Amino acid sequence: MTPRGWAVVTLVGLVVLLIASSALLVPWHRPPAPRADQLAALRELPAADVARSRAFHAALRPGSYGALLVGLLIALVLGLTPLGGKLVDLVSRPFGEHWIAQATLGGLAVVLVADLVTLPFAAWRHAVVDRYGLSTQSWGGWGLDLLKSYAVSAVIGAVALLGFYAVTRFAPRWWWALGAAGAAVLVVLLSFVLPVLVEPVFNRFTPMEAGPLRTELMALAERDRVPVRDVLVADASRRTRAVNAYVSGFGPTRRIVVYDTLLREATPDEVTSVVAHELGHAKDQDVLAGTLTGALGAAAAVTAFYLLGFWGGLLRAAGVDSIAQPRAFALLFAVVAVVGLVSTPAQALLSRRVEARADAHALDLTGDPATFEAMQRRLATVNLADPDPPRWEYLYSASHPSTVERMAAARAYARGEGR
Ligand SMILES: [Zn+2]
Repeated sequence: MTPRGWAVVTLVGLVVLLIASSALLVPWHRPPAPRADQLAALRELPAADVARSRAFHAALRPGSYGALLVGLLIALVLGLTPLGGKLVDLVSRPFGEHWIAQATLGGLAVVLVADLVTLPFAAWRHAVVDRYGLSTQSWGGWGLDLLKSYAVSAVIGAVALLGFYAVTRFAPRWWWALGAAGAAVLVVLLSFVLPVLVEPVFNRFTPMEAGPLRTELMALAERDRVPVRDVLVADASRRTRAVNAYVSGFGPTRRIVVYDTLLREATPDEVTSVVAHELGHAKDQDVLAGTLTGALGAAAAVTAFYLLGFWGGLLRAAGVDSIAQPRAFALLFAVVAVVGLVSTPAQALLSRRVEARADAHALDLTGDPATFEAMQRRLATVNLADPDPPRWEYLYSASHPSTVERMAAARAYARGEGR
């Protein structure tokens, strides 16, 4: 069988694995709480708060969707015309168009152009967040964050680009197999390494100070039989008033992080409720499952990209001889942009199901639906979340159940349902 034949077989296998793993790992059996309960919950929220959060999201939308649309357009223009290849030539010319310069500088230049074009939209969003009093960051601090994230992406991007195009260069027939394996390994590695190496670039993390709350949280983890080495507090207040908590990494790098803003805004019982939700993610190995799904997806994407290289019309449009050459990076970038856009609703759906399971875990573990509901109200009020967002937006991108869904789930639990 030819490499192309093997690639087809591999792609089919990876897609089957992806479908099987999401069928097995994602809790599909838990439908959202009845709509009538959600609407009842919505009516109890202060109308002024709901109106304010809706105005906030309406003001954000041009910035968000503008960036999405313009980012996609620029990716398509660079990828599906010879412009992308010409840009790679231009920046690698001082280095005699050496393939290493094409791969790293050329690739980064394509990404940078897209970033710069969408920068005004990001600034728009920051201005809105600032106007609504959610940000505590000056424009200087915002700009510095932006530069830091460019720097981090440039380092990771350059390594990935160099690795990828070294493989396509030195294994011209089988690069897709090595590339697929490499992409999968990179996803797993980043999941380990990002919390430890990259998160500290943006925030300071300190162990939660000793006291009744810390004792309570460690006891909660113990009762839940989830090994937690520490609960860390992030100094999110230097950037935002929003409250949040999350769990990242897995194995030895797994950590539960709460924002310092959460400790300031919420009662200790509410913090316990939030951490109980995060323990649910840890207990169900959600980060590990997400990482493995991401690794399978990355491997499938590289294989599919190789097969796309047999489409002559596409190569002619991009003005390249082969999809595997650095000059064709903009084409890769365009494919990633389209796939990202199309797969967002599916990723959001999987995420919402996993989040609903963590909520159920929090309710079971604390047995305190009243505090859970109070916490959801506080999250919505402080973070200016639309408690019941428009359906299309929810289906397209909501990573969590809506506030009214989460409140209704707590009420269903209180009635003895869903245990
Ligand atoms: Zn969660």
